[in-house]
Amino acid sequence: MENEKLTSPGYEIPGELKNVVEITTLDRIYNWGRRSSVWPLMFGLACCAIEMIAAQAARYDMARFGMEVMRPTPRQADMMLVSGTVTKKMVPLIVRLYNQMPEPKYVVAMGACASGGGPFKEGYNVVAGIDKFLPVDVYIPGCPPTPQALIAGMIKLQEKIDKQSLSKVRWYDKKKEDSVYVPVPVLGPDLMDPRRFAEIKAAAAAKEG
Ligand code: SF4
Repeated sequence: MENEKLTSPGYEIPGELKNVVEITTLDRIYNWGRRSSVWPLMFGLACCAIEMIAAQAARYDMARFGMEVMRPTPRQADMMLVSGTVTKKMVPLIVRLYNQMPEPKYVVAMGACASGGGPFKEGYNVVAGIDKFLPVDVYIPGCPPTPQALIAGMIKLQEKIDKQSLSKVRWYDKKKEDSVYVPVPVLGPDLMDPRRFAEIKAAAAAKEG
């Protein structure tokens, strides 16, 4: 966010105070702080992760966006960058990591695999996109997306944060508690989403009956 956007328009500041005083809103200053220090969780799933690593190195330097502090623990991370093929075996772990991240938190699906299964979509062991389980904020197309594409996705995420309002965000809304915790899927003969247990039981019963 440029500095002029941080300042709330409509209030005339006297000339002699222009370099000293800024008038803004709580939403703007809160969003400005969060969008300028989005700390990604340090993990990767497949080839897209190599591009993510490249984006963090000196040539592309995500420090320019305040996003260089990759955290090795979900408890200190704001953003889950799902970079790579999402296999059924990995989904319970990814969901558990997501649940361990404190709010406010964001999910970015990087590349064709994380967004929709990619070239392995029909594979017996592949999930057709992490959005089947987690609420995705930004999708980045490509196989793999270049570091530039990743940075464009990060700018989209910043734009999304800019539009959030303290009175509407889910982490301050007690009624939306259910949407914050995602039940961890169970890996048996196939991957089962606990949110769909009733549906699975009904389908099994219909088949038997
Ligand atoms: S989208 Fe392409 S580059 Fe990225 S993990 Fe899938 S196959 Fe690899």
